[in-house]
Amino acid sequence: MTASFRITLLPGDGIGPEIMAVAVAVLKQISSQHDLDFHFTEALLGGAAIDATGSPLPNETLAACLARDAVLLASIGGYKWDSLPRSQRPETGLLGLRSGLNLFANLRPATILPQLLGASSLKPEIVEGVDIMVVRELTGGIYFGQPKGIFELENGEKRGVSTMVYSSSEIDRIGRVAFEIAQKRQGRLCSVDKANVLEVSQLWRDRITTLGPEYPDVELSHLYVDNAAMQLVRAPKQFDTIVTGNLFGDILSDAAAMLTGSIGMLPSASLGESGPGVFEPVHGSAPDIAGQDQANPLAQVLSAAMMLRYGLNQPAAADQIEQAVLAVLDQGYRTGDIMSPGMKSVGCREMGQALQKVLEAQF
Ligand code: NAD
Repeated sequence: MTASFRITLLPGDGIGPEIMAVAVAVLKQISSQHDLDFHFTEALLGGAAIDATGSPLPNETLAACLARDAVLLASIGGYKWDSLPRSQRPETGLLGLRSGLNLFANLRPATILPQLLGASSLKPEIVEGVDIMVVRELTGGIYFGQPKGIFELENGEKRGVSTMVYSSSEIDRIGRVAFEIAQKRQGRLCSVDKANVLEVSQLWRDRITTLGPEYPDVELSHLYVDNAAMQLVRAPKQFDTIVTGNLFGDILSDAAAMLTGSIGMLPSASLGESGPGVFEPVHGSAPDIAGQDQANPLAQVLSAAMMLRYGLNQPAAADQIEQAVLAVLDQGYRTGDIMSPGMKSVGCREMGQALQKVLEAQF
């Protein structure tokens, strides 16, 4: 029986529309092969939404996302909107989307593909075999805590305030997601905090420790965030699953991303307790190469695979896309960001065509 899914597409800004086009073509191609029926609806987010409506997250966009089975997002932002007040910036739209869909868990895999071992800036013997999942809390912590703002003091001086705050239920919720993911992986979970300095982190550590006995098959460890950053570049293979708060996760997941050599290869998933998840590449809108057919579409394509696996429960279709990505890399196709000597340099569109050829040949 054909399984039918409604998907909201948010191509966003910069390279977003270019890489989204490749991912949608791939999804259309595999749909008939796996008896899937996708209904795509496109909506505006970020700078494109600001230009059209004045708001980075128009109400219609949030409503369109809430009403669908999954959201496939490309990237938002660009120089053009950098000087707008914070409430009107593209990033505010993204934060609003995450919070509007209550997406509290962000999954960012950082896996070294054997074909791209040489693309990492670290020595091959350090990164070979790295397979890390960073589970980042996404709707709490310092990005949302109150009070926040820039306040004027009586003496005329200005004071900027952001507040890092976590409640025990928020920590337990993300902790459980991370333990469950670790159970499906190598059974090792490292919780990252700054409990030696921050009270909010002390509560984080206490709660995660309390959850530990519920998951006897998961080996739990803790690291301070500064040490975790060092360990990620010193000996990344020690990590399996990492769980951490919003700010630390933002930074560590980018560092983990760089182990793989290209941010253009990394997908992510953001999940709530129920309702649609958002699936998007880790990278931004790359305004420096937008519109030049130079973008690597593979992180977007792998985000579509994550959508199939974690959002729509279609693991066979997800596997097929992931295998197609490995196959085009095996065939030597490389966009500029992952190019190495002897490989075949292609643009975004040609990479998409190579994927489609592989998918055609698989069936
Ligand atoms: P970026 O990820 O857009 O770009 C960093 C570098 O990586 C650039 O040199 C870019 O050309 C390259 N790059 C990124 N993705 C690539 C791809 N798929 N293929 C080839 N090269 C790629 O980060 P930035 O320059 O810090 O930010 C640019 C804009 O993106 C800003 O407006 C920022 O706010 C926004 N941003 C959006 C998101 C998001 O949509 N989730 C995330 C990060 C940054």
